[in-house]
Order: sequence, then C-alpha cells, then structure tokens
Amino acid sequence: MNLDRIFLSESHPCGKELHYVQQALEAKAITSGGNVVRDFEEDLECYLGNNVIVNATNSGTSAIHLGLLLLGVQPGDEVICQSMTFSASVNPILYIGASPVFVDSELDTWNMCPIALEEAIQDRISKGKKPKCIIVVDLYGMPYQADKINEVANKYGIAVLEDSAEALGSRYKGVPCGTLGDIGVFSFNGNKIITTSSGGALLLSDASQKERAAFLATQARDAAPYYQHTEVGYNYAMSSIAAAVGRGQLEVLNSRIQSRRNNHSFYKELFLGVKGISVFTEPNADFFSNYWLTTILIDSEITNGLTPEIFRLFLEEFNIEARPLWKPMHLQPVFEKYPYYGGVIAATLFEQGLCLPSSSTLGEEKKARIKEKCMILLDKYNCL
Ligand SMILES: *Cc1c(COP(=O)(O)O)cnc(C)c1O
Repeated sequence: MNLDRIFLSESHPCGKELHYVQQALEAKAITSGGNVVRDFEEDLECYLGNNVIVNATNSGTSAIHLGLLLLGVQPGDEVICQSMTFSASVNPILYIGASPVFVDSELDTWNMCPIALEEAIQDRISKGKKPKCIIVVDLYGMPYQADKINEVANKYGIAVLEDSAEALGSRYKGVPCGTLGDIGVFSFNGNKIITTSSGGALLLSDASQKERAAFLATQARDAAPYYQHTEVGYNYAMSSIAAAVGRGQLEVLNSRIQSRRNNHSFYKELFLGVKGISVFTEPNADFFSNYWLTTILIDSEITNGLTPEIFRLFLEEFNIEARPLWKPMHLQPVFEKYPYYGGVIAATLFEQGLCLPSSSTLGEEKKARIKEKCMILLDKYNCL
C-alpha cells in the first residue's frame, strides 16, 4: 500500500527555526547553556508571564528529576504520583532512591483524583511517613483539578510538582499549565506540541531556585578556579542548537494549539451520535486544553464488540497510527510493588481508551482518509 503514514503526533517544523540556528552557528555558540538558551528561556518567560522563571533542560525527564531535588526529595522519601501517566513522571523518583505512591484518576480530567489523594496522604501519615511531594500530570493537555488538588496539598503542607510535559499552552481558569503547582515541567520532545528535538524546562517562582537548578544541571561545580565539587551533579543543561530550534517553534505555538484544537473538533463531529464512543473533552469553561492528543473511550458492550484494539489494528491497515492510552503505573511490572490508592478509573480508561492521530500537520486530505476509514468500521459494527 502506498498511503503516506498518518502519525499519532509528529514534529512540525515551521521554517523559522533555521534563522535562529544560523544565528547560533554564526556566533560560534555550539554548546550547552549560554546566550541562546537564555534567549529561549526569556521567550518562554514572556509567553507565560506572571514572573515565572524558566530553566531549560535537555529533556522533560531531567527537568522532573531536578524539580524533585529542588523540592528536597531525598533517598527513602515517599512521593505521591498520578498513576495514569507516562513512566517519565515516575522514574526520577527512583533515580533519587525515593519511592512512589500511586493515586487513581478522576473522570472529568483523567488526572489525579483529589479524594484518592487525600486518602493516600492520610494513610501514609498513619503509617508513619508523610509524603514529601505530589506529582500531578496534565494528561493529553488537559489541566488537572488544580483548585481541589492544591487545596489538599496545602492542607497537609505538601509541595506539588506539575508534570505539564504534554500541556504547553493549556490553561486552568486562565492560568497557564506548568505554573499551577509549586514547580512545573515542560517537555520539548519530538512528539510534543512544539519541539527542540529533545528538551525540557523547569518553571520556577524564584531566582534562588533557578540558581540551584542551573548549578545541579551543570555538574555542581563549586565557585573555585579549579574543578571542585561538594555535591553530586548532573549534565542536564539544554543545548544551544536545541534552544535555537525552540525559539523558532515558539513563534508558531499559538497556531499549533489551534491546529490541535481543530483536530479535536473534527473528531467531535466524526463521533457525534455514535453510540458507545465518547471524545474526551474539557469538562467546563475553567479548562482550556491544547488537545495535544485527541482521545476517545469505547464501551465495547455498546459498540457491539468493537474494542479499542480492533479499532487500532483496523486503522493500522491503512497506515494510520493510533495508540492505547498510557498504561497506568500501578499496573506496570516495574512499579507494581509500590502502594496504590483509589479504584479502577485509571485501569478502565486504559481498557477503553484510544489516542487518535493528532499532529498539527493533519490536513484536510488526511482527515478525509481517517473519516472514511472510521465510517467503514463504525458501519460494520452497526454503531452509526
Ligand atoms: C513526554 C513526557 C515526559 C518526558 O519528557 P521527555 O522530554 O521525553 O523526557 C514526562 N511526562 C509526560 C507526561 C510526558 O508525556
């Protein structure tokens, strides 16, 4: 078959990247850190407003690791983490020698359930250990229940790290995702809404945090003429070439958000009136999602046996990439020995969910192909 592959979420260069890369090359600034990275950080600070301070990193994962260190997480500590997420939200907890405690999702946002969170905190405290930090995620671009989660976190005096890797451009009550918790994280990996090839950012609220993050990210060098170290450091700074690409990408962020939101509207219309299939959508006007990925839930009892996996394999036949939702962390072999609080919401989402092609490159022709194939399948299962 000669059909071009339709990807789940592919990178989307705009042409403006080249100008900044050229500038960096001409300035002989091919390194990590430096002025180009500072410029990218300033662009982001300008976009976010509210005096947010940005520290760019070489990945979202390294930003999460640094964020946990800044919040004082130490070996032996417990860190609460949303179970429904990508493993990169959790791995840094283990890099530190701390241990994760997983919490279920709620149905409105698919993000952390505030009730299960409070139950987890109370139970951990009763077992003699107060969790050091809470990692919440803005899954698929949907903001977490910031008011409710932050209220629980404040009640117990526990810091919130917001993994906003998928949610650059999303907002809750007008406030940008990434700035809803105590420390926030973005990812600029190739599959995200904008990319630096690989990269990430820490979103901080004071200059001393930024100084500490930059120190740890550049091998923790003491202020001495020679190389002296009193702490373990990391090589986590962003490369100048990545930052140059990011400056170009940031110029088209708003148009990328618009494209992804248009994709969501396209799928809303496609599945309108289809029994047993619902498109995951903002619960109310407090939530503004960048719709990084559009996702659906399929209730196979209502769709006459049409399951997410049948749907995925059918699209694959026509070179259209769809993917199951993130498999919850408490169900992962590598993490299953850690405690979990909540019910079966995350597990049910995983069972019923499917991520649909959501790239900002998805043009009318590709949409028409997706629609045509979906209609054939939905008709076959008598869902129309
Ligand atoms: C992509 C992603 C990360 C990791 O970002 P990288 O830049 O790939 O290291 C972390 N958390 C979530 C939820 C992600 O989607």
